[in-house]
Amino acid sequence: MSSQSFLSILTGSFSTPCADNPTVAMIEAGYRAAGIDARYINCDVKPEALGDAVSGAVAMEWAGFNCSLPHKVAVIDHLDELAESAKIIGAVNCVSIRDGKLIGDNTDGKGFLASLKEVADPSGKRVLLLGAGGAARAIAVELGLAGAAHITVVNRDPKKAETIAALVRDNTACDAAAQGWEGGVRVPDDTQIVINATSIGLGDAEAMPPLALETLRKEFVVADVIPNPPKTKLLRQAKERGCTTLDGLGMLVNQGVIGVELWLGRTLDAGVMQKTLQEIFGASE
Ligand code: NDP
Repeated sequence: MSSQSFLSILTGSFSTPCADNPTVAMIEAGYRAAGIDARYINCDVKPEALGDAVSGAVAMEWAGFNCSLPHKVAVIDHLDELAESAKIIGAVNCVSIRDGKLIGDNTDGKGFLASLKEVADPSGKRVLLLGAGGAARAIAVELGLAGAAHITVVNRDPKKAETIAALVRDNTACDAAAQGWEGGVRVPDDTQIVINATSIGLGDAEAMPPLALETLRKEFVVADVIPNPPKTKLLRQAKERGCTTLDGLGMLVNQGVIGVELWLGRTLDAGVMQKTLQEIFGASE
């Protein structure tokens, strides 16, 4: 008789109900390809039940879990420790459980950074960041920690842009400024990386952040956080102008890879995970 346990390693996500969570298919494909007997389970957790859900995960010896909105800030009250960037960002989307101890991290920005580093090192670069929501905040902090020289945060609500710029200036060696979004944003010539971190383009291949396209130079890296559809109008237009483009699938894949490294100390095959997402969302760039 085999001495192997009948219990799989448990990981998953605490979120609100959604029709489809592509992360489940992506991570489980990664587990299967690596021969890891683990599951990634999406759980519907109401805000008032978050504490009980966290205790349940500890009691059932889960290795870790992701949490999406609205739990990213509230979960912090239930954790023992925070990683550096999660502390600065003030939000956690990935919790590891080690010897019953809960450690919170934020993999949104780390996933983006890992994807960006496949085409450009952000160290010393000037960045134009569109949007000032949760994704923009995490990306700005990670870019600052990775040594970017300057970030201009552009948002309709300039107060939100200034909050992120101040967070970067106060917690990293990177300089940052805020800019209100009026009409088509002109990208300064000395920019090297342009990032759309707004929700414009999600579920709409023709939606386009208001941007003066003629200011995009072929030397720029243009990145989009939108995973679905991956070929956003911004990336198609940027590619036509000769820019290096980066879609939102890589950010999602790398978040999964980083999460499993934190939980199990194993590195999943990013290619297998990317292929799974492409089957769900359609081909990328
Ligand atoms: P938030 O709701 O926190 O922020 C949305 C941002 O988009 C805000 O800055 C908002 O501006 C801006 N925005 C929305 N509509 C417009 C518009 N019409 N014109 C100008 N600005 C607009 O969302 P998140 O930051 O959490 O997520 C943003 C996107 O990132 C989502 O589409 C999500 O799918 C994607 N994402 C992708 C990930 C990946 O792994 N690929 C991971 C996480 C997120 P304002 O403040 O003025 O309202």
